[in-house]
Amino acid sequence: MKDSQIYEKLKAQNDEDILLHFPKSYDDMTLTDLSLPLANLQKAVLFGCPNKLVSLQGGKIIRFSITDEQGHMTPGMIYGQPFYAHVLKSKETYFFLGIYKEKQKCVMVHLVLSSSSPLSQNKLKPNYALPHDISQSSFYRLVLNILQNRNAYINEVLPSKYRAKYKLESRFEAFKDVHIPLDEKTVNRGLRVFKYEEALNYCLTTLHLKNSAAEIKKIHLAPIDKLQINAFIKRLPYKLTSDQVSCIREIVLDMDKPTCMNRLLQGDVGTGKTIVAFIAMYANALRGGQSALMAPTLALAQQHYQRALSIFASTPYKPVLIDNSLTAKQLESAFSGLQDGTYAFAIGTQSLFSQGVVYNKLSLVIIDEQHKFGVAQREAFIAKGEGPDVLMMSATPIPRTLSMIVNSDLDVSFLRQFPSQQRSVETKVVSASDPIIDKAIRRALTVHKQVFVIAPKIEKNDSSKKLSSKALYEIYCQQYGEDNVALLTGKIKKAEQEGVYKEFTSGSKPILVSTSLVEVGIDVPSAAVLIVYEANYFGLASLHQLRGRIGRNGEGALALFVYDGEDEEAIDKLSYLSSHSDGEEVALYDLQHRGGGDLYSNRQSGESELQVANFVTDYNVFKAAKNDAEDILKDTKEIECSSYVNLVLNKTLLN
Ligand code: ADP
Ligand code: MG
Repeated sequence: MKDSQIYEKLKAQNDEDILLHFPKSYDDMTLTDLSLPLANLQKAVLFGCPNKLVSLQGGKIIRFSITDEQGHMTPGMIYGQPFYAHVLKSKETYFFLGIYKEKQKCVMVHLVLSSSSPLSQNKLKPNYALPHDISQSSFYRLVLNILQNRNAYINEVLPSKYRAKYKLESRFEAFKDVHIPLDEKTVNRGLRVFKYEEALNYCLTTLHLKNSAAEIKKIHLAPIDKLQINAFIKRLPYKLTSDQVSCIREIVLDMDKPTCMNRLLQGDVGTGKTIVAFIAMYANALRGGQSALMAPTLALAQQHYQRALSIFASTPYKPVLIDNSLTAKQLESAFSGLQDGTYAFAIGTQSLFSQGVVYNKLSLVIIDEQHKFGVAQREAFIAKGEGPDVLMMSATPIPRTLSMIVNSDLDVSFLRQFPSQQRSVETKVVSASDPIIDKAIRRALTVHKQVFVIAPKIEKNDSSKKLSSKALYEIYCQQYGEDNVALLTGKIKKAEQEGVYKEFTSGSKPILVSTSLVEVGIDVPSAAVLIVYEANYFGLASLHQLRGRIGRNGEGALALFVYDGEDEEAIDKLSYLSSHSDGEEVALYDLQHRGGGDLYSNRQSGESELQVANFVTDYNVFKAAKNDAEDILKDTKEIECSSYVNLVLNKTLLN
């Protein structure tokens, strides 16, 4: 492939853009010592010629023997890569990377590198994440060309003050260290530069967002009557936890300020975020404003609406449900009631910011399960208000110290305590044929508890191999009777979803087969069993959310994660969940292993991507960078700093 095509495919405008494609991992190319026999599942790197090559089953299996320079022969096998049968030449030398399998008595080779390939020149072979039509070698040839032959000029980005402070090497050297490393030490020396760069960009952008938001003044509203709020809290059917009380205090103080609130309410599933949101809405109604609470699914919006009806029954303020599944007539009356101020609280789905909705005085916007919405959706929703106070809710309970970094663009309130009874959910990883599944379901049916059954996809006939909720529904109907099983998916008409959901909550159909739709927020206190099929397809955070749906009445509950594969990463992940119930620990583990993609990928606009820095493992880098970013923003008179700030903010805020 021509270099120009690589630039085009990777949307790279210059050499630097190419170099910013960092290796996602490295293979150690140290040759395996063959003086001792290979152990089962041992990683092997062999060098030699492929002899006695036989291609079986149309190339699906290729067998050969790897003859090294000493004449030592090792049996090798390549599976499912038929093209190698035409490529491998018995007189040429190659590197073979693979795993020794005792059962087959051969090395299962997954990668063959010609000894003339640029990728085989180093002790550490970089692996890149590339579109399938760009080969590793052609990309690497370009990288080498840029770094070795062309001696490309690479601009320094960081102000020299900070490069000196942390003794960071030049960017050019850092690129070399990461792409053409001698050893692991070299890789880390180069990565230090890019991790700090990413961390500083992140902190600078988020702090800048926060500072600019703090300058937006809101319309004048009457001060909030705290006594009435206290009286309202006293009338609630339960006593608030002290965390709930302090979060409410933080929110109400924010709302009384002349600038807009921009706050995140963070608490594990079941810590009681909804009532905190309701009290903020009540406070807003007291000062004469309208509030809108948006949820990601209709089922959740309905649940909020039902709760609001009962909580606000004793007040003069009325809620209304907004969703496009309502009839035209219902919507019309809802819209006109919002416009003339009949309703103080709009509760709904994305329809809350559709064109037809005109608010009277929208001064508080609340987004539940905020990670379920994209940046554009949140902004469109907020734009419906007149400089409204904004409260977002998230069930990713990361520790305060970490949250201060990840969420530097927001103020954060934390809910740690769980109301009332401690929940006890036992979690087990099981195989699909384990009799415990049937036993748990039958027991739940006997004692009139509900069961959630979750599959990774909806339809049977989409091309992926995943199990579908439709297929699962049919199996469950056969086994437990149609009368006991309900099916809820996003594909079912919204109006019908409501009916299905009611059948389940009321207990008339106690088994609900669904997709991860139920992951968000639904509260069915007597649900006691959760079964997630092919649990490996779900993220750790989602699985934790899912099991947060059961055992809500404080009675013992059972979560079964079904997995029949052998993928070690998946097994590690699932076993971690079975031994850890603390949401904060789960969130940390998740962040550490996935780099926190979910947390920042769809948050505020203008955040640079994190490729190499990880919030958890590089926490100290972020902490240092945050201090530096604060200093830089305080004093942008220094020319070098100010041009750096312009560079970062222009780049990140514009795209
Ligand atoms: P989440 O934080 O996951 O959104 P919810 O707001 O749905 O949690 O609350 C979970 C359940 O706990 C609800 O049934 C709610 O009524 C109940 N709840 C909330 N706060 C308290 C409290 N202080 N005491 C008792 N029950 C509470
Ligand atoms: Mg909730």
